[in-house]
Amino acid sequence: MPLSPLPAFLTQRHGELHVEDLSLDSLARAHGTPLFVYSQAAMLQALGAYQRGLAGRSHLICYAMKANSSLAILQTLVRAGCGLDIVSGGELERALAAGCAPERIIFSGVGKTRAEMRRALDVGIGCFNVESRAELAVLDEVARAVGRRARVSVRVNPDVDAQTHPYISTGLKDNKFGIAHDEVLDTYRQAASCSGLEVVGIDCHIGSQITQAAPYLDALERVLDLVAAIEGLGLGLRLHHIDFGGGLGIDYRGDTPPAADALWAQLLQRLDARGFGDRQILIEPGRSIVGNAGVCLTEVLYLKPGEHKNFLIVDAAMNDLPRPAMYQAYHRIEPLRARADTAPLTWDVVGPVCESGDWLGRDRELAVQAGDRLAVLSAGAYCMSMASNYNTRGRAAEVLVDGARATVIRQRETAADQMRLETPLP
Ligand SMILES: *Cc1c(COP(=O)(O)O)cnc(C)c1O
Repeated sequence: MPLSPLPAFLTQRHGELHVEDLSLDSLARAHGTPLFVYSQAAMLQALGAYQRGLAGRSHLICYAMKANSSLAILQTLVRAGCGLDIVSGGELERALAAGCAPERIIFSGVGKTRAEMRRALDVGIGCFNVESRAELAVLDEVARAVGRRARVSVRVNPDVDAQTHPYISTGLKDNKFGIAHDEVLDTYRQAASCSGLEVVGIDCHIGSQITQAAPYLDALERVLDLVAAIEGLGLGLRLHHIDFGGGLGIDYRGDTPPAADALWAQLLQRLDARGFGDRQILIEPGRSIVGNAGVCLTEVLYLKPGEHKNFLIVDAAMNDLPRPAMYQAYHRIEPLRARADTAPLTWDVVGPVCESGDWLGRDRELAVQAGDRLAVLSAGAYCMSMASNYNTRGRAAEVLVDGARATVIRQRETAADQMRLETPLP
């Protein structure tokens, strides 16, 4: 596949890769590697496309913080107008610490605990996205016990056709997410009968890294059919908001997802045509806001040419960047400085972790020497937030760049940090 141009915030200047106005090699020298570097302008620009697309409508963009939940990233997006979509009690505490107004927080996920529900009710979150009838019953019970009404939306599984859209991973029948299409009306009947619940909306989230508009349009029609059916039940239900989830893809490797504003122009047209243009629109984008706003810098430790494979051993690994090991995901890899004195070779870029699955890129044409540094691109989403301490490797540091200013937003984790909660035997 032909490579796309570099993301706009990354430029080559004097043979060196820059993020906004800063040289990545200088940042790596100053802060060490592995290092995540994020462009503030890139994430605000990505958010801006959604804001333009939804301008003039009652809407709330709830950034899905599991994509990247570092506090400074959340603050940046909250200050720019985002609410947050959370999936755990831990994320709730982060959301509050980042200054998000509780009523702009929505709580998704199939396995909320009673304690998480109580805490969310206590602080007064905007809405629970409920994923099963059993959860609905427990939430009702918890809410009544604390003397509150929980605002709820039911996550429906629109069962968008797998044949036409095989890339969708969460909107199909055989999936743990959401409530099956043919159970939705009964679920709303149940919700309407619970004194601890206030029905405020409906939501769906059909998958991730979606690169076409068609599945969104299909899901929209199915969800609107359901809204009409729910409101026609004669229970006096009116859905205040419709939440279309997240899932819009980014360009990892020449992918061409629709722009968020263009996609929303199409979706709004259908929404208006169906007579639901007056409802508040919620969305939960994650990857498409931060994915291409970040890179991970790593240093080449050793060259290990071989008979069948050449290995480039770098200091970042699957614990820092789990997506290749987890999903065989492709991340583009670029040297930070161009080299004229070395012939390019085909390398497998691998980390130091003791697992064969520890690779960052396979069969990459690179002209490099030991000590050179590389950028793993598209590393803003589902990298740092999925990082682990496997092999007792400290998690990487993070830097947020705004123009010519770099702010360290997370220090490198030390071995002492990792052992802090453990109790050695006497
Ligand atoms: C993960 C998730 C999102 C965000 O998905 P992206 O592909 O990162 O946009 C939104 N909503 C729910 C319920 C999710 O689980």
